[in-house]
Amino acid sequence: MSPARRIDGKAIAADVRADVRRGAEALAARGVKPGLVVVLVGDDPASQVYVRNKDKAAHEAGFAVRTLTLPGTTTQDELERVVAELNSDRAVHGILVQMPLPRGLDAQRVIERIDPRKDVDGLTPTNVAALVTGRPGLRPCTPAGCLVLLDRCDVPLEGRHVVVIGRSMLVGKPFAFLALERNATVTIAHSRTTDLPALVRGADVVVAAVGRPELVRGDWIRPGAVVLDVGINRLDGGRLVGDVEFTAAAERASWITPVPGGVGPMTIAMLLSNTLESARRDAR
Ligand code: NAD
Repeated sequence: MSPARRIDGKAIAADVRADVRRGAEALAARGVKPGLVVVLVGDDPASQVYVRNKDKAAHEAGFAVRTLTLPGTTTQDELERVVAELNSDRAVHGILVQMPLPRGLDAQRVIERIDPRKDVDGLTPTNVAALVTGRPGLRPCTPAGCLVLLDRCDVPLEGRHVVVIGRSMLVGKPFAFLALERNATVTIAHSRTTDLPALVRGADVVVAAVGRPELVRGDWIRPGAVVLDVGINRLDGGRLVGDVEFTAAAERASWITPVPGGVGPMTIAMLLSNTLESARRDAR
């Protein structure tokens, strides 16, 4: 078995962002500029970096983007009021509330206040229901990005066994439903799964979204399988690794995403894509 081809998430994300930029230009010619507001509560350093990156990418795509920074002392009512104002602002097509919120704020209640048409993270109950029932809606960015990676590499899902490791609402569960929509046979593994190696050994496609460095060993990967590694783990020395033992897995897989530079860059690209979709709908 020859070593896997790397899925170049950076390059694919750049393509998606260029497409979005062209779409935004076409929309601007019709008088609509996609508007994105990123809400950041408190001063978590990691969140500040993520928000800056989103802001920069949205600027580059030609969007009207604004970061609303609220103090860590913001109350639930105040935050929900901000979301309500953004819901009724015609110039805003996408609202993203950066997680995690400071302790004491109920993230789920805030998400539920976002107008589903502006829910570019795809996390409101309306969009979750749309995903589960196979109706159109805004899909969560990271799993949607995983699907784009598979499509760009011409990896079909129909009839194939997809093992998703992790059952979060952000990645694992939505990816499982996206794969089902493509007629894959899907298994979701999680922290209480008893024999993870056996499941992975039977998988045509493995999607790891756990947050444990190199949990998935290379020799679990079936020769020829496709591996998407969503995990981002920083080791003590500062090095970033995924949830999959990359070098060993790459010896067996047909396609594999590196960390960094695989799934990671797709999240922002899909955020832009969702915001454009929302602005287009508004322009109709
Ligand atoms: P989470 O903590 O919400 O969920 C982790 C999941 O892993 C849980 O469902 C849990 O059941 C499962 N799990 C834990 N231990 C396990 C084990 N030993 N075996 C099998 N399953 C186990 O995490 P999340 O938000 O879904 O994120 C997962 C990883 O993906 C993290 O490393 C995160 O940083 C990364 N992530 C990356 C991006 C991106 O690339 N842009 C976006 C979101 C998350």
